Amino acid sequence: MKDLNQELQQRKANHLYRSRRVSDSQQQPEMIIDGRQVLCFCSNDYLGLANHPDVKAAFIKGIETYGAGSGAAHLINGHSRAHHALEEELADFSGYPRALLFSTGYMANLAIAQSLLERGDTVLEDRLNHASLLDGGLLSGARLMRYAHNDAIDLARKLASRESGEKLVLTDGVFSMDGDIADLPEIAKVCTEQDAWFMVDDAHGIGVLGSQGKGSLEHYRLSSTDIPVYMATLGKALGTAGAFIAGSDDLIETLIQKARSYIYTTASPPAVAEATRASLNIIQSQPELRSQLNDNIRYFRNSCKQLGIALTHSNTAIQPVILGETEKTVAASEQLFAQAILVTAIRPPTVAEGTARLRITLSAQHSHAHIDKLIEALGKLQQ
Ligand SMILES: *Cc1c(COP(=O)(O)O)cnc(C)c1O
Repeated sequence: MKDLNQELQQRKANHLYRSRRVSDSQQQPEMIIDGRQVLCFCSNDYLGLANHPDVKAAFIKGIETYGAGSGAAHLINGHSRAHHALEEELADFSGYPRALLFSTGYMANLAIAQSLLERGDTVLEDRLNHASLLDGGLLSGARLMRYAHNDAIDLARKLASRESGEKLVLTDGVFSMDGDIADLPEIAKVCTEQDAWFMVDDAHGIGVLGSQGKGSLEHYRLSSTDIPVYMATLGKALGTAGAFIAGSDDLIETLIQKARSYIYTTASPPAVAEATRASLNIIQSQPELRSQLNDNIRYFRNSCKQLGIALTHSNTAIQPVILGETEKTVAASEQLFAQAILVTAIRPPTVAEGTARLRITLSAQHSHAHIDKLIEALGKLQQ
């Protein structure tokens, strides 16, 4: 047996050791973390719905109606009226005939390639895809190929190199560590031309992109004809937990028959579905939350520009400051924490070697004063 302690020490020496901070707060900009009052710029709760009174009330009412747990898998007796209604509302919202709920986004991403592909088939993934999409591709047993980031031409070349078998293209809609938006119109065109399945993972697009919050498809005015499979998560802008895949009736029925991460797991609590229905309602009825978020993004970027802080081209809530070296990035994150600001250092292997970064995320809940504090602290780092 190998020496785990030695391996852990090596990780520490390489500044790659991961550890948890303990929160005593609800999800919001000002939190108590590790016993200290800090200002957070790392949550994916982009609209402040994790802590919204209507969402919490729906959650509590859901518990009163359905109890705390679902008791079984969806195919046994765990599929409640709440889950069913949410699936119908998500299908309607995203513009697909049907939607299927999963307990987490990770599990939804394990489901798709495993259900559609077999040995001899091919899955093509953007180099910067989320780890769960890569794991889903590997688990399927199909050949996994990665194309250059957001490069439809490289994708077309790689697709053309595979003459037989089914092909599935997977991409983040908004890239989770970079915040840029995939070139979905071009990628969709290539997929149509080469008869490939195409799924977008819109974990960071749903709720925040598009005037109605319908995500990266609305951003580009694309529909289910362009993108046959749509996946999004519910634990980020929607503020609750879980995920869904939307598509044709036949696609959803296929997933119900074949997706192991759907079949062999307990359904999430029905109350979570009730809370998510409330979130979905807010996303549609309160566009001002998106306006606040977009205003904060503009304010942050303008302020950085004035101070000469280098940003990427992202116009979304994810605003990485790429520092390069892992050690330097970890030190910067610690320096910010010492000033009561929490921004996480993202290191390899989550991002490529030499591109370690502070992953700053903004929320509709941040005030300009909050952002001013962050900018001031970032300015001090540069000195
Ligand atoms: C967060 C995330 C997931 C995983 O979703 P969970 O519900 O947290 O398991 C999948 N894809 C992307 C792009 C994500 O950012």
